[in-house]
Amino acid sequence: MRCFIKRVNRISKIDLKSLYIEEIEELLKQENAPKFRAKQVYKWLQSGITDFDEMTNIPKDMRNYLRSVGYLADTKIERKLVSSIDGTIKYLYKLNDGEYIESVVMKYEHGITVCVSTEVGCPMGCKFCASGLDGKVRDLTASEILSQITTANRDNNIRISNVVMMGIGEPLDNFDNTIRFLKLVSEKDGLNIGLRHISLSTSGLVNRINELSRYNLPITLSISLHSPFDKTRSEIMPVNKKWNIASLMTACRDYQKVTGRRISFEYALIDGVNDSEEYAEEIYKITRGIMCHINLIPVNPVKENDYKKPNKDKIFRFQKLLTRRGLNATIRRTLGADINASCGQLRQKKEEENIENIQ
Ligand code: SAH
Ligand code: SF4
Repeated sequence: MRCFIKRVNRISKIDLKSLYIEEIEELLKQENAPKFRAKQVYKWLQSGITDFDEMTNIPKDMRNYLRSVGYLADTKIERKLVSSIDGTIKYLYKLNDGEYIESVVMKYEHGITVCVSTEVGCPMGCKFCASGLDGKVRDLTASEILSQITTANRDNNIRISNVVMMGIGEPLDNFDNTIRFLKLVSEKDGLNIGLRHISLSTSGLVNRINELSRYNLPITLSISLHSPFDKTRSEIMPVNKKWNIASLMTACRDYQKVTGRRISFEYALIDGVNDSEEYAEEIYKITRGIMCHINLIPVNPVKENDYKKPNKDKIFRFQKLLTRRGLNATIRRTLGADINASCGQLRQKKEEENIENIQ
């Protein structure tokens, strides 16, 4: 049943919210619509409508035409958790075909940031991560990535100003949809979120980083480093067996040459695994010549593994080991600690509940 719906939605009908304005113009040509209609329709679609009848300034016939050829991708709120500590919101969203993804909305002084998912599950299999536990189910469409923002905007009557692509999935494994999303989200008649306010995090698909640099987008590229040594990195991140650290650092240097943007390295501190002085010294060596920032994240324990975060003293000590060497390193503030705000765990729990219900 699930497969059938997927086919109807994704093959027979057009995913309207993923269309560029020119593509909507093309579609409406068949209806002999004047050009300004495309812009109106585009604005409605990008605002996150969930029903064609919300397009109140569009003639009824045209709404019916759009309904007959297309569908509205949606992220329906299945669960919503709000942190009583800092107001961070975590959503479990249900997609049109019944799959689940997660998003987190965080309030900072400089604006509201959403952490979006890019795939249902993840194919990369990093050992410390809840999102990769059962592999990838499918890519998200550009509209499904956008919808995570519009649903949260509409639900809270807010305007999200910053996006981090750090939820479930590997954005560069879903390359075309990621590029389409970036173009749509920054469009002035759409959500109009500037590319400078967007970070894309990758586990290090070198060929895709090179491809991304050709687009020369002013987004922030975040690299999930987690170890400066190939041996440890390959143990915790299988992607390193294909693209090792030397090739990753070359890609970062090339990316920076083209875009001029500072690169951010994510480093999940795992007690006794990657938090010794030797690791700090090697981070210093491999990042030499790269204008960068190191983001230290005490690892979030996942019940399927034994990784633990180092104690506070060890975390501060590691930061000092880096800053003493002239590196710019900060410790990520934990938001939503009471709702377990890092991604992947709610979806995992939901999948387990579903399995229990079937049995
Ligand atoms: N797939 C992309 C983006 C999503 S993961 C990537 O790997 O970069 C977002 C960030 O969360 C990555 O830096 C990832 O390494 C980190 N992460 C995943 N599981 C974590 C955990 N249990 N504790 C701390 N950070 C984690
Ligand atoms: Fe996928 Fe990123 Fe998790 Fe690795 S850390 S499994 S790439 S989501």
